[in-house]
Amino acid sequence: MLNLVLFGPPGAGKGTQSQKLIEKYKLVHLSTGDILRNEIVQGTELGLEAKKLMDEGMLVPDEVVIGMISNKLDSNKDAPGFIFDGFPRTVAQAKALDSLLETKNSEISCMIALDVRNTELENRLLLRGKDSGRPDDANVEVIRKRIEEYNSKTAPVANYYREQDKFSTINGVGGVDQIFSTICRVINDL
Ligand code: AMP
Repeated sequence: MLNLVLFGPPGAGKGTQSQKLIEKYKLVHLSTGDILRNEIVQGTELGLEAKKLMDEGMLVPDEVVIGMISNKLDSNKDAPGFIFDGFPRTVAQAKALDSLLETKNSEISCMIALDVRNTELENRLLLRGKDSGRPDDANVEVIRKRIEEYNSKTAPVANYYREQDKFSTINGVGGVDQIFSTICRVINDL
């Protein structure tokens, strides 16, 4: 199985690159942000709780997202592999993911990090907010809070995979296709 974690701060291009990776490698895309936004649209209790935190740029609790990923892994038993996009975002989530995959005799193949500096991220997210309809993209304070959450809680996840020799970082600034080719080179070298 090819199990990739696409990593990077909000606005790094994880969603865009995931779409291209799904097409090429026929992987199942698991974006916890998308699953949460779907819960909000459905008006579920989980969605309502998560929305408050998401609108403030805060992470939702680990047990919520871990439960969602566990369900998705169970409902995609025959998948050739997964792209985890926006998950894991804490070391506790990374450890839980390892345990979940272990019960399926599988493991993470590689974490690929997209490196983009903060000023570029803010500009990209504000621009995306004009069309995305995402309340958390529209406000610069919320964007900064999301980047802050990333730096304090999510950035340490890179070390977790580095210690397992499963970490690659690439430049996330440039043309979409150029970045995609670099990602594919990393995958082909696995
Ligand atoms: P994203 O679409 O990945 O930018 O996620 C949007 C928002 O959903 C984040 O700012 C968090 O509030 C929440 N979220 C998504 N994934 C996670 C996760 N793995 N852990 C905690 N919160 C998450």
